[in-house]
Amino acid sequence: MNGAWHKAHPMPKNPTREQRIAWHAEHARECACRPVPESLKADVARLARP
Ligand SMILES: [Zn+2]
Repeated sequence: MNGAWHKAHPMPKNPTREQRIAWHAEHARECACRPVPESLKADVARLARP
């Protein structure tokens, strides 16, 4: 796992759906220590490949 990335990119407290999507899109590129939640997958994929 990319500990440095996680330190620099904490998940916001009470994140909005958009914030979670943006976080997971970045995370999948930089680390991906855990999979994107099923409920966000489509939106994260859309953001990753515009
Ligand atoms: Zn990670």
